[in-house]
Formats: sequence, C-alpha cells, structure tokens
Amino acid sequence: MATPSVGRFAPSPTGPLHFGSLLAALASYLDARARGGQWLVRMEDIDPPREMPGAAATILRQLEQHGLEWDGDVLFQSTRFAAYEAVIDQLLASGQAYCCSCSRQRIQSLGGVYDGHCRHRNMTRQGNGVRLMVPPATTIEFDDLFQGSQQQDLNRDQGDFVIHRRDGLPAYQLAVSVDDAFQGISHVIRGSDLLDSTGRQIFLLNTLGRKVPVYGHIPVALNAGGQKLSKQNLAPSLDTRDPADNLRTALLWLGVAREGDLAGLSVAQMLHWAVSQWDATQVPRHPGTAAPGVYQH
Ligand code: GLU
Ligand code: ZN
Repeated sequence: MATPSVGRFAPSPTGPLHFGSLLAALASYLDARARGGQWLVRMEDIDPPREMPGAAATILRQLEQHGLEWDGDVLFQSTRFAAYEAVIDQLLASGQAYCCSCSRQRIQSLGGVYDGHCRHRNMTRQGNGVRLMVPPATTIEFDDLFQGSQQQDLNRDQGDFVIHRRDGLPAYQLAVSVDDAFQGISHVIRGSDLLDSTGRQIFLLNTLGRKVPVYGHIPVALNAGGQKLSKQNLAPSLDTRDPADNLRTALLWLGVAREGDLAGLSVAQMLHWAVSQWDATQVPRHPGTAAPGVYQH
C-alpha cells in the first residue's frame, strides 16, 4: 500500500495572512487533497520577539473563512521545545554539531559563509549558539515540483549552519525539519522565498536519518510595484469581507482556473472544483503580481 500523503501549511504568527500566504496555504491544501492526503496546520510560534499578539488566532480564522479546513489539531511549535532540545543534544553528543560564540558582525565580515572557527574550541552551551557541521563537498540535489531540478552547495552558500541561536531559541531550519519528520509530512508546498532553505533542511533530515519529503515552491506574489508581498514590505492583511473573491484571484494566479471558470461559485464549491483540477505543471514558475492574468508562465 502506498503511504498516505500528508501536506502542511506552517505560518509564523508574525501578522495576519496576506495574499502571498493565502497562496501558499491554498497550494498546499489543493496539492494534499488532490493526492487524497491529509492537510495539517502547524503554527511556528517559537520566535516571541517577532510575534504579533493575536496573530495565530487571526490566521486560523482567516483559513476557516476561506474554507481551508485542516485535519486534526493544530501543532504549536511552542509545545515542542523538548523535542528540539533532544535533537540538538543528540547532534552535539555525536560530534556532528558544536557550540559557537561568534557574533553576527563576525559572520557578516565573512560574507555570511561560516569558516568553522569554533569547530574545535570545545565550548559549553551557555550563551552560545550551536552549529551543524557541513562536511566538505556537501551538495544537495532535489527535484522541486514547480521549479524543477535544484542543486545547492551548502559549503559555498553558508557552511556550518545554526541549529540553535545564541539568544536561546531553536533555529527555524532545525524546528521545521524536526517537525516535518515528526508529522510525517510527505509534501512541503510553500513560497519560493524558502527555496534556499531547502538544501539545509534536506541535509538535516538526512543527518537525522529521517525521510525527506517532496518539495514544491510556488513563486512569490509581487505587489503592483514589483516588490515581494511580505510582512516586511507591509503587505496588506487579507480583506476577508469577500473570501470567495480572494480564492478566485488566488486560483487564477496559481493557474488552476481561468477567467470565467468560477463565476457564482461559493467558497466550498470553488475548493471542491479546484481539487479536481489541481495540476502542478500549471503553476507559474516565476513571480507574478497579484492581479490575475498578468503573471508570466
Ligand atoms: N513559518 C515559516 C514562514 O512563515 C514557513 C515554514 C515553512 O513553510 O517551511 O515563513
Ligand atoms: Zn563560531
């Protein structure tokens, strides 16, 4: 029997959903449902300084308003600190990770690629970060569902990378990989702003002896000025007065529907139809603006 497929949407509660995050949620939902699989929601709430109070609840309500119903309970990463700590301990004990006291300024002066300075300094964890050792010639290859074949050279791109931050928090790369494995995620569908992280996540999963999911990165939506829609660029929160209209725009943007296909359909009808139409080869590979009909294939 084939293993059931499991997809997920993993927002950080740094603000309400904007159009770009709706696209990621919708694409992962459609992909999972079209495979007859489960779709999970994981709240990545392990970075208190970046969080906005109330955003987690707002995001869940916005998903519901758009008919995006998840399976089971939402997994809050803030309940998972012990699991992250256990993995960090294991990697330190096996000598695959080490403590690092280097400052952000030092890493910047190296052009962002770590030079292994602390590898053999045998420091304690107190006040230090933890880095995962990247052996020479670590090149990760994978076939992205939407972006095609990818190759990432971890030595050239960042070297040994942080799995636990100096401020005492687990790093995104570690938490996301540990939880994708924990939740049995088979398909990670998300925005292409995370494409560069994928090599590190595959390397981590390989190091932990865990199964590597299939990855698919949808292009990031741009605003009318050609800037990426993100909280940093102050992308407006989704206007939820007309969820059907948002879904229609998102389905056009994802190449699932064409103008006219969705006239008069309710949110539930639109999703039902879109699941039957989902075709990864129709998703545009390059960034497009949020306005339908103007993106490039
Ligand atoms: N929590 C991350 C974010 O909102 C996404 C994690 C992921 O999809 O892998 O940027
Ligand atoms: Zn260091």
